[in-house]
Amino acid sequence: MVKQAGSETKLGINTRLAHGGYDPRDYHGFVNPPVVHASTVLFPDAQTMAGHKQKYTYATHGTPTTDALCRAIDELEGSAGTVLVPSGLAAVTVPLLAFLSPGDHLLMVDSCYGNTRHFCNTMLRRLGIEVDYYDPLVGAGIERLIKPNTRVIFTESPGSNTFEIQDIPAVAEKAHAADAIVMMDNTWATPIYFKALAYGVDISIHAATKYPAGHSDILMGTISANEKCFRTLDAAHSALGLCVSGDDAYQVLRGLRTMGVRMERHGENALKIAQWLETQEGVIEVLHPGLESHAGHSLFKRDFCGAGGVFSVVIGGGTEQAHAFLNALRIFGLGYSWGGYESLAVHVQLAAREITGKNHAGAVIRLQIGLEDKKDLIADIQNGLAAANAI
Ligand SMILES: *Cc1c(COP(=O)(O)O)cnc(C)c1O
Repeated sequence: MVKQAGSETKLGINTRLAHGGYDPRDYHGFVNPPVVHASTVLFPDAQTMAGHKQKYTYATHGTPTTDALCRAIDELEGSAGTVLVPSGLAAVTVPLLAFLSPGDHLLMVDSCYGNTRHFCNTMLRRLGIEVDYYDPLVGAGIERLIKPNTRVIFTESPGSNTFEIQDIPAVAEKAHAADAIVMMDNTWATPIYFKALAYGVDISIHAATKYPAGHSDILMGTISANEKCFRTLDAAHSALGLCVSGDDAYQVLRGLRTMGVRMERHGENALKIAQWLETQEGVIEVLHPGLESHAGHSLFKRDFCGAGGVFSVVIGGGTEQAHAFLNALRIFGLGYSWGGYESLAVHVQLAAREITGKNHAGAVIRLQIGLEDKKDLIADIQNGLAAANAI
């Protein structure tokens, strides 16, 4: 846990990624921070112990390693403080638990990450919280869905798997007029490509498992809040006893150092492959907000300064065609998650959606474009399409 005013700096994004969060002079000049393995922290005397009058008191409340990561993320987000949790899913559930009480109403975007929906429909409803799903394209129309007990409006843009772009400033304006707070799962764009807090979001959520970690070997979530919300978030995080290991925090900070160049490559290759896919036989639609054909393209251009490397392609047919496509792939792995260096594909299931589940006339396949050579990935996808089209 680190509380820090958002530092207004004019340095470029890659400079901040390279140097943020840690000053080598704080630890003998070593370029990287030490990995602190800890539970106990010693106090020099009883008075200091009784008053908790030192920076570190117990490792659940942070170490120099976790603080370095939190500070680096605060610098990227412009947040007042950041807390670390053991997974991206926990980065969604913890702020919801922190801000919602029995009798409160939550507006959740229908295109949310699937496990976010599961948490809302099970645990939040059990705790007596009213949950309504809304259309990601609602924009300022969110006003009509806000009730006197609406406490939180949860956004995710682009939506998981289907990539709808939300008008975040319009939603935030109506939310704040009604005294509700705005949370955003900002995993796809990372703080490099979408400045959530600058667009009215109060709490920005990331599965650091994805691009920040970048190598499919770490699970972590980060939650960053503005001045108005950090105290409540931090209190809930602390009360729940959540923390992450120094080793994992170190690896995510290490990942941040190269995230800018990795994202550039992921984003560039993904957009080129998406454009190529639009011209291919058997492809009904490509769901990538960077494409001019995408319904959210103008909002995307207005608010985002780049794209992640994950998008979906809708191919003709159903499960049989989707399975043929996936089984023909040799470079793309079949697996969940994304943000690592390697390409992945999954057949997306939208049956649990209430509003956006039937918007696409075919099988939706999500592709994570890794750091391999684009020509090899295109050849792999070509085999997938040929297999699907042969049915
Ligand atoms: C992957 C993902 C999560 C969950 O992250 P985990 O670390 O896998 O729990 C949350 N939100 C979004 C948008 C994701 O893509």
